[in-house]
Amino acid sequence: MLGIAQDGGHPQPGCLRPCCANITEPHYPVSLGIRSREGTNLLIEATRYLGEQFAIWGQTKVDHLLLTHAHLGHVDGLGLFGREALAARGIELHVSDDMYHLIDRTPQWNLMHQQGVFNIQTFTGGDFVFSQGELSIEAVRIPHRAELSDMHAFIIRGPSKSLLFLTDHDTWNETLTAHNCSSIRELLGKLNVDIALVDGTFWSENELPGRNQAQVPHPPVLQTLNMLGEKKQGDPDIIFTHLNHTNPLYNKDSEQYAEVERLGWSVAHQGQRFNL
Ligand SMILES: [Zn+2]
Ligand SMILES: [Zn+2]
Ligand SMILES: [Zn+2]
Repeated sequence: MLGIAQDGGHPQPGCLRPCCANITEPHYPVSLGIRSREGTNLLIEATRYLGEQFAIWGQTKVDHLLLTHAHLGHVDGLGLFGREALAARGIELHVSDDMYHLIDRTPQWNLMHQQGVFNIQTFTGGDFVFSQGELSIEAVRIPHRAELSDMHAFIIRGPSKSLLFLTDHDTWNETLTAHNCSSIRELLGKLNVDIALVDGTFWSENELPGRNQAQVPHPPVLQTLNMLGEKKQGDPDIIFTHLNHTNPLYNKDSEQYAEVERLGWSVAHQGQRFNL
């Protein structure tokens, strides 16, 4: 787990409040590094903190890069693979058709494509994006505000466990409806995952003073907890990630953090590892 922050990062530029002014350790935007048994490196999301995230991962080579969608923190490090920084060649870049059209229309990215930095492979929801030995990655279509591109979650399946990477969506209602499910448990059961990294952007609805929540829709953690209740036997591990700088879950001593743990769920941490 190479980052657990919402797109703006933590500290967030311009924030002078205690949530950002007094922190000891920065948190980078969400990103996941995956290393296969065969030694292939896959990276989900290209953030502007690529260098710091390589240091957390202990790797500097990316064979496959997967992008969920086009919002700021998920793609703003794409340029780092080009001539000015890594000067990479032939990275297999996996994106949706929609995202591919955006790359085509964006001069900086289009140029990198023409220079051979990326080989682009497109997918649609339900496709296997990657497979090698006992490792596979599957794309899952997710409703999320789509000004620039559509959005896909990924399921990483290894020989013993599988993990869902679902960092951004608008509402549980739309996500559940899109997959014909009536509860979060039903959806995670249908997707057949053991670990679910889910959108934990905001703790509650009144977290952005002076800003309309409708402009930045994400299901608040409090609502997700109300829908889930306590963890039961057989439930997957649900881990909250993509935390906004204002989210009290950054503070391990907060009552909100204790509440998540009391119910049997958890909060992601940077550098966390999973053996799948
Ligand atoms: Zn995001
Ligand atoms: Zn802040
Ligand atoms: Zn987003």
